[in-house]
Amino acid sequence: MTTPRPRPEILTISPYIGGESTLPGINRTIKLSSNEGAFGVPPGAQQAIRHAAEEAYRYPDGGADALREAIGRRWGLNPTRIVCGAGSDDLIYQLCLAYGGPGRDIVMSAHGFAIYQIAGTYAGSRVIKVPERNLTADVDAMLAAVSPSTRLMFLANPNNPTGSMLSAADVTRLRQELAPEVLLVIDSAYAEYVTRGDYEPGIKLVDATGNTVMTRTFSKVFGLGGMRIGWCYAPPDVVDVLNRIRAPFNVSVAAQVAAIAALAEPGWVEKGRDHNAEWRPKLAAGLEAAGIKVWPSEGNFVLADFGTPALAEAADIFLRERGIIVRGVRGYGLPHCLRITVGLAEEVEAAVAGLTAFMRGRRG
Ligand SMILES: *Cc1c(COP(=O)(O)O)cnc(C)c1O
Repeated sequence: MTTPRPRPEILTISPYIGGESTLPGINRTIKLSSNEGAFGVPPGAQQAIRHAAEEAYRYPDGGADALREAIGRRWGLNPTRIVCGAGSDDLIYQLCLAYGGPGRDIVMSAHGFAIYQIAGTYAGSRVIKVPERNLTADVDAMLAAVSPSTRLMFLANPNNPTGSMLSAADVTRLRQELAPEVLLVIDSAYAEYVTRGDYEPGIKLVDATGNTVMTRTFSKVFGLGGMRIGWCYAPPDVVDVLNRIRAPFNVSVAAQVAAIAALAEPGWVEKGRDHNAEWRPKLAAGLEAAGIKVWPSEGNFVLADFGTPALAEAADIFLRERGIIVRGVRGYGLPHCLRITVGLAEEVEAAVAGLTAFMRGRRG
């Protein structure tokens, strides 16, 4: 019997491994492995999801018109330049399928978000990973990696899992020096958490150029990772392309109303941002006091650097025994590191206490 075979490059893709959420034999786990917002689902969004139950027999609005209008109002954007997706991952896939493909290379930084490589390879592109400098995308190296075959470049800003960020000036220079036929996708999933003043999520560049896209998500500060909803702000030509190829009902009824309600939740983003601005430095300081190197982060997580893969792995096991799940980032070429999400105050304190005990035990 002959078994059907996919295109050969498909089998070179390693499946994406999400953050684990349960540990065998432990009832109460602290999950700091997926960068979800610390405060759960906004109450108004919970109510909207319950109401949506009655409407779920109907197809959703394929254009997500009400949601795009709400997003447009919130960020001062023209709704006709917005496309919604089943998470921003969905839009990343569609961009790769439309603008990538055989003979059309994709450039990303060495420790950039894993989905770019998966989606790019799926599309048939060669995905080129560019060495970073201090775990930060290197603008000159990214530009040098571009060839006449390059059609797409992905930049997560801030990046996951490193937490590093490029300034508005650096991203602008990247765009200016990048060939115009290369679509630059700025993934600003963590924009709401950035505290540095020299940041710009990409809106200005999308407005100023015809070849830049910004992607955003409801999965982080808005607390709706489980609903799968993201969006992009793009030039009219790119919007037209995405609307031709995306699944016509890619955002569910429940996801649309939940996102609208999350946008309307009074003070929600401010609460998430303020909490993160307080507890991200506390998490970093606690780990550093325990003798662990922490990379600077502008996201709702930090990258803890144990120096060796063995020590990082032992720390991971030690935390698991205490019911704390963080994220190994071996797949990102960082086997000596663990990524830790900024959870609630007591969750951060538990992670710091756990790793302090771990490091003390190491010193004997
Ligand atoms: C979490 C994350 C996303 C969000 O993906 P969704 O599909 O919207 O849940 C996108 N990009 C990066 C870099 C992320 O870390």
